[in-house]
Amino acid sequence: MQNKMEFHELREYDEYLEVFLQFIVSIIYQSVLEYYWHRIMHWKYCYRYLHKFHHAYKAPEPWDDMYIHPLEAFGYYCILYGPPFLFSIHKYAFIAYMIVMGICGVLDHSGINFEFPGLYNTIDHDNHHAKFEVNYSFPFPFMDILHGTYEGTFWGKFYSVRDKVNRGITIEGASCKTNFKVE
Ligand SMILES: [Zn+2]
Ligand SMILES: [Zn+2]
Repeated sequence: MQNKMEFHELREYDEYLEVFLQFIVSIIYQSVLEYYWHRIMHWKYCYRYLHKFHHAYKAPEPWDDMYIHPLEAFGYYCILYGPPFLFSIHKYAFIAYMIVMGICGVLDHSGINFEFPGLYNTIDHDNHHAKFEVNYSFPFPFMDILHGTYEGTFWGKFYSVRDKVNRGITIEGASCKTNFKVE
């Protein structure tokens, strides 16, 4: 598989715009594939033998982002490092994309509340660790919202996966810092 990374220096305005679009396309590409990969990881046997490691902690801690089974890591890193092998991408777009993914990965498991309004909230992934069947998206909630698996507040609207809670998903034993309420 050929690496299509571009290394030339940027001079024209159009080139900066192109790099920005490559960055956005990379984020969208990752968000879509990560969502379905994460959903597969929650299938019964994948969860039992692979993804269960990552869910060992109900309230995640910083290094839990990398606390995943090697096979799950291999699959996910194929997705994460995919952009330069799938389409032309400038080194600056790829670096910016990796910075966003790296920072969000650590923040999601940091135990702190951080929000980038209208785009990203660390509470979302905390709720995934606490409730298992909500908020599979990483790092942004768009794929969950599209699939009806989002639980949280986005752009002032509260989304709830109430039917799944009623089907008996339990957060027993969860010690999530977000004090998620189940009425
Ligand atoms: Zn999961
Ligand atoms: Zn996690």
